[in-house]
Amino acid sequence: MNFDLKEHPHNRINILTGEWVLVSPHRTKRPWQGKVESLPAENRPPYDPACYLCPGNKRADGSQNPDYRESFVFTNDYSSLLSDTPAGEINKKGLLKASSQKGICRVISFSPRHDLTLPEIDIEGLKKVVDLWCEEFKSLSSNTFIKYIQIFENKGEIMGCSNPHPHGQIWAQNSIPVELNKETLRQKEYWEQNGRSLLSDYLSLELEEQERIVLQNEHFVVLVPFWAIWPYEVLVVSRRHVINILEFTEDEKVALADVLKRLTTRYDNLFETSFPYSAGMHQAPVNDGEHKEWHWHMHFYPPLLRSATVKKFMVGYEMLANPQRDITAEFAAERLRNLSEVHYKQKT
Ligand SMILES: [Zn+2]
Ligand SMILES: [Zn+2]
Repeated sequence: MNFDLKEHPHNRINILTGEWVLVSPHRTKRPWQGKVESLPAENRPPYDPACYLCPGNKRADGSQNPDYRESFVFTNDYSSLLSDTPAGEINKKGLLKASSQKGICRVISFSPRHDLTLPEIDIEGLKKVVDLWCEEFKSLSSNTFIKYIQIFENKGEIMGCSNPHPHGQIWAQNSIPVELNKETLRQKEYWEQNGRSLLSDYLSLELEEQERIVLQNEHFVVLVPFWAIWPYEVLVVSRRHVINILEFTEDEKVALADVLKRLTTRYDNLFETSFPYSAGMHQAPVNDGEHKEWHWHMHFYPPLLRSATVKKFMVGYEMLANPQRDITAEFAAERLRNLSEVHYKQKT
């Protein structure tokens, strides 16, 4: 009997972090006895007078949103990081260690429309969001104390997102967060050994194999990474090795809007529901010397497993040992690949 990734339990390594995931493909054969539920269709109005993101409304700090037509960005009224935190460190016998964190948290409303989500915004609107991400990245990095800028979106109640108005966040801070530290080390090591970016070589291999590719255009490829943890996790990789979003050309920015729309449409179509996820860009630290090793990419971590309500839990072995999955990355890629790019709500 030969070792077969489709049949036998195995570990796969995440080349970006050096961490492992246990894959148990044989378990997909066990009978599923859980409930498969669908969610009632949500009917949100295009404008909600009680929403702090809708145009013209009052926010927590008493200020009023402008009557914006495209997208809108402001500093979070309940920021997790503050720009006036005093510097300082605590170290008691190397056992109790802490360092003060200084930063800026911004909120981006993707659209004036309360009832839309990314897949329902047109390409022009999404391109405006990409432009705003670039502007914010540029202006936040002009603060020399900022070392990393995390652009992300938390979508859906299941992810703890409190407001359904389409929006994302940007947290910028004076240190490099844990996940980014791991990815910097791994990419640096590869760059020093090979003189090419880790993700350029990984992308070439995936394009040869085809098995885990979901969709692509001239500038970006969306794939289920070999080491995916979440059932329908994907990685969006730029074909060109750029270290951050500011290096993208106008064509690349439009192409990014295109893959984001197509991917999120497929996601919604998977279980015919507004698909929840946490997604975000990873890119080079700023004000931290050269980072030639860094290759811009975006992660999507969606929790849904079997239906609009059955999600994957990270419990037991996963909390105590390492992540585990049943359906393989290859199976997930095939399912996503076979979905339509016409949104299910548009179908008659
Ligand atoms: Zn709203
Ligand atoms: Zn990453």
